Amino acid sequence: TPSTEATENVRLPLRPELEGLEPYGAPQLDVPVRLNVNENPYPPSEAVVADIAAAVVEAAHGLNRYPDRDFGTLRAELAEYLRVESGVALGPDQIWAANGSNEVMQHLLQAFGGTGRAVLSFAPTYSMYPEYARDTLTAWIAGRREEDFSLDPGYAVAQIAAHRPAVILLASPNNPTGTALPLSTIEAICEAAATTGPAGADGGPTASVVVVDEAYGEFRREGTPTALDLLDRFPHLAVSRTMSKAFGMAGLRLGYLAATPALVDKLRVVRLPYHLSAVTQAAALAALRHRGELMGQVASLRAERDELVTWLRGHGTQVADSDANFVLFGVFEDRHAVWNGLLERGVLIREVGPAGWLRVSVGTPQETAAFKAALEEVLGW
Ligand code: PMP
Repeated sequence: TPSTEATENVRLPLRPELEGLEPYGAPQLDVPVRLNVNENPYPPSEAVVADIAAAVVEAAHGLNRYPDRDFGTLRAELAEYLRVESGVALGPDQIWAANGSNEVMQHLLQAFGGTGRAVLSFAPTYSMYPEYARDTLTAWIAGRREEDFSLDPGYAVAQIAAHRPAVILLASPNNPTGTALPLSTIEAICEAAATTGPAGADGGPTASVVVVDEAYGEFRREGTPTALDLLDRFPHLAVSRTMSKAFGMAGLRLGYLAATPALVDKLRVVRLPYHLSAVTQAAALAALRHRGELMGQVASLRAERDELVTWLRGHGTQVADSDANFVLFGVFEDRHAVWNGLLERGVLIREVGPAGWLRVSVGTPQETAAFKAALEEVLGW
């Protein structure tokens, strides 16, 4: 690399709001027990690996060509997956997908956010949300959650009326707290949001787009609903899902959403052409063919999660209700010391969320046992 004075002294025209910022991401440390980014601890079986490999070989023969820009087959299979998982019938034109649900939500803000517009969410919540806002020049407004991380519907509706956001982001189950929203709260928000968006091109009212981020949806407890059930009532609702968590395919990078065909059509305008590579599409389709097996671990992960919550509470620790594959627990005077003590014992968790709280992902029974043993040592239980 050249190191002349000219190259060293160049001042790049960085957007002022990016000055001094670091790229987002949890530390990727090489430790025996990694429970820090809410991954599925179970790798795909040999049969799944073989099928994905064969599908990628097949796709490789055509890599001189651009991929299917509208990925119709993949959209149809994702719709079929949602039908089986949630009992909600959707057409392929109601599905959108991208490289992780992060990119799906960035598409939403590219289409509906922008200069002079705002995105509203309720903190503590997923820490990428303000970054989507920043990167799409959309104003970020963080409302608050209650002490128990629930959301007061009356308060949420008042915030919507006050800020008239273009987009409302609701993570349910929420990260980092694990708490899900009752359907009645999402309904109240959708009703309030029907005419609270920024003025349309003709000066008339628009809706705020309500995004329910169900990245952890499949881990919901018995009786916790999915917002997919509301799609036929609210044309300004989008429900985002991902193959990264329950499906155990975080490395694949495939997120998707369900909404009306009209809303999906707007996202097609802002996506980069061919954003989903032929390799991604082929691998995702192969993985979806094995959905039964890949989803087979979800029930045991849920049971492990509930058991972990009970165990932590049994030790007098505060634990947020969890409908996800992770648990937020606390409150520690020096959470960094606890995090570090665990790391010294080969267990990596996440220092995230409100002051004093820590988040641990649900691993295999062996990993959970290692976490418990390490925590007992660190806290002298
Ligand atoms: N939403 C929430 C609430 C998340 O926690 C995550 C992953 N940490 C995502 C979206 C993004 O996941 P992906 O891009 O892998 O689909």
